[in-house]
Amino acid sequence: MKLTVLGSGGSVQTLERACASYIIDNKILIDAGPGSYRNMLKAGVDPLQVRVLFLSHLHGDHFFDIGPLIWGMSFMQRTEPFTIVGPAGTSAMVKNVLSLANTPPSFMKFAMKFIEIRPGDHFVSEGTNVLTAPGNHVIEDVAYRIGDISYTGDTAPSDSIVNLATGSKLLIHEASGLAESESFLKEVGHSSSRQAAQIASRAKVEKLLLSHITPAVSNKKNELLNQAKPEFNNIEIAEDLVML
Ligand SMILES: [Zn+2]
Repeated sequence: MKLTVLGSGGSVQTLERACASYIIDNKILIDAGPGSYRNMLKAGVDPLQVRVLFLSHLHGDHFFDIGPLIWGMSFMQRTEPFTIVGPAGTSAMVKNVLSLANTPPSFMKFAMKFIEIRPGDHFVSEGTNVLTAPGNHVIEDVAYRIGDISYTGDTAPSDSIVNLATGSKLLIHEASGLAESESFLKEVGHSSSRQAAQIASRAKVEKLLLSHITPAVSNKKNELLNQAKPEFNNIEIAEDLVML
């Protein structure tokens, strides 16, 4: 499975980073944070080939580009159905966005299928086993394991994510701050890079990708890595348009 990072940032986009978005094999999209649609085009991904979108949770930094994505697909005359998987409220969110954008009814010539799940649900999508587990965030967060790739969404350290990710080739774990901010991060349902590495170690994954790099730490990559490395060895910090 090939993973392309379409957005490595967290909370707000910056000059260097779009917000949370990843794509597997150019067809399985995970989150659609602001700036990610343009990165999809830059990465050479054809929006017409994208089959399904998995949303971790309904904070804007993980879905604000749903509008550009659907308008882009419509403009390109998509006719294939498009599936959107996410927590309760996903269908209403997407319909509201399209409605507030005054999307002309004749513009979209494809059907959207919504699958609202509860964390813990298991199913098959695009021929791939998908497992889910609850993250530990201020609103409901769904962590996904899609094949051998696991993704946390936004979460404080979570035992259920350890169980979900155990044995994954790749764990994409959010790292919103440094160890000295852990008490604050816990309050807002986020993790430090050190805590992400502890989860990766407990889950015995092959590789950890630290992502959701917020503006507060975007110029502190060395500190993020140095605090994580004692806990787990095989770590990379996500950058936009990197392929793994
Ligand atoms: Zn976020």
